[in-house]
Amino acid sequence: MSRIVVVGSINMDIVNQVEKFPLPGETIHGKGVDYLPGGKGANQAVAAALAGGQVEMLGAVGEDSFAPALLESLGRYGVGTKHVLRKPGTSGLAFITVADSGENQIILAEGSNGQVRPEDADESLLAGAHAVILQNEIPWETNLRVMQACRRLGGVRLVYNPAPVHPIPEEAYGLIDLLVVNETEAEGLSGLPVTNAEEASAAAEELVRRGAGSVLVTLGSKGAVYSDAEGESLFAPARKVRAVDTTAAGDTFIGALVAAGSNGMPIAEAMSFAAAAAAIAVTRPGAQASIPSREEIERSLA
Ligand code: ADP
Repeated sequence: MSRIVVVGSINMDIVNQVEKFPLPGETIHGKGVDYLPGGKGANQAVAAALAGGQVEMLGAVGEDSFAPALLESLGRYGVGTKHVLRKPGTSGLAFITVADSGENQIILAEGSNGQVRPEDADESLLAGAHAVILQNEIPWETNLRVMQACRRLGGVRLVYNPAPVHPIPEEAYGLIDLLVVNETEAEGLSGLPVTNAEEASAAAEELVRRGAGSVLVTLGSKGAVYSDAEGESLFAPARKVRAVDTTAAGDTFIGALVAAGSNGMPIAEAMSFAAAAAAIAVTRPGAQASIPSREEIERSLA
């Protein structure tokens, strides 16, 4: 089996349930707190490992009491943590407040994720990997160094999920083998409207023109489209399910897609596999806790 390396964020999500959000200056009683391991990098690593990939995480935790819990959780899901560094200060934290209305407010404290430096990108780990997955929750300079290293090493598929979105420098597009974006990110990067599969394909083609080898746009319950530099265009419908919590739908999709690819599945089939994985995740609450295993995904496709 070929290796997947996820270079990215690791967070502890501290989730406070409240009846109503406090007003500025107001103090209120919460209804209960949950500590849930998260972060886009860690979520995608967990999704890829559960979907049957051999996954190593490269990132950083702090020197606080959250660090051991974050490492333990990754390990429990089968993600390799030998390359997770310890940095001074706190781990990445997400302070999430969920009101009874279902609305949420989130404050990110990047902590050790902000200290993952270009020189931490160990090329001996990247060399020989089937794929390397990046997001936007560690410094851009580190992502760029990883992209350049993968291109130089050759044979490593560079998958980039630019979330939260910020502009990609023109010269970096050519370093990306697979760009995975949701509707908002596709609009932000392409400058085109993206509200349906047709518009998503046009946006994907525009991003391919800028130099990405292939582009996949996920459209929530409307499915996902794919375009590549060879002119291939694909569509994977979403599966009809009763969604209860769409947190980590995109992360589950990406992890499952890359795991399927690392096990030799062609892209069209991998998209259906990933759509099935994400469809299961949205029927369950939570982020990592909602991500299905390979057996569950295969059973839902049978
Ligand atoms: P993100 O979480 O990054 O915004 P999306 O919302 O586009 O990503 O969802 C990613 C994928 O998850 C979709 O392409 C689809 O396959 C699946 N998905 C998301 N929401 C639903 C839903 N309500 N029902 C079924 N599948 C869904």
